[in-house]
Amino acid sequence: MKTVNIAIDGPAGAGKSSLAKKLAFHLGYTYIDTGALYRSVAFEVIRKGLSPNDLERIKDILVDTDISFQHVDGTQRVFVNGEDVSEKIRTNEISSAASTVSAFPEVRSYLLDLQRNIARTENIVMDGRDIGTVVLPNADVKIFLTASAEDRATRRFEEQKDDENAVSYNDILQAIIIRDKNDTEREVSPLKPASDSVLLDNSGFTPEQTLETVLEIIGRKINV
Ligand code: C5P
Repeated sequence: MKTVNIAIDGPAGAGKSSLAKKLAFHLGYTYIDTGALYRSVAFEVIRKGLSPNDLERIKDILVDTDISFQHVDGTQRVFVNGEDVSEKIRTNEISSAASTVSAFPEVRSYLLDLQRNIARTENIVMDGRDIGTVVLPNADVKIFLTASAEDRATRRFEEQKDDENAVSYNDILQAIIIRDKNDTEREVSPLKPASDSVLLDNSGFTPEQTLETVLEIIGRKINV
């Protein structure tokens, strides 16, 4: 049976993952967070005390790094060599290390088959940076979700402002600008809209408005 693939790409903080999660729930599809895969590689690199720039040693550990998604109590969790790292991969240190390791072609090709294999077996909503361009070039619907860097930084700031380790708005904005630069300027699979994607700038949108707009786009492309 042919599976339906919906690709959501865009820069950090555009709201891809919350949109993709809600879409998957609404459509009864599986949500695949590909950023979690890059974060898992970064996690293993940091745990082993390596530098995220040390490609030679990263290549060595990749062969022994088994990354998988599993459903636990209705939520999707990510496992590295059997350990649930779903929360541990969400730190600022891992975000920036993920951005660094994701520029290596060896890391990208290691994760490519994993992503494609999941997409072959289920109806999915997959979010990332290169899903519509590289991972699933034949996806049924491709959305490129973006928003101004200031809007994205404000959303991230609001999400964490009451946390013990809250970071200032300016630090978040700077980190977003650096990640955007890394992600768009790298040679392999840079962040860019696929030529057949629908571009949606959701600056000033509520999450509900974004979901409604994307459901309309999907409804126009496929029968769901
Ligand atoms: O989406 P998230 O912020 O979790 O992604 C973490 C990092 O992983 C991104 O900054 C990007 O460098 C990398 N990434 C990627 N390709 C993807 C998903 C994420 O390069 N498909």
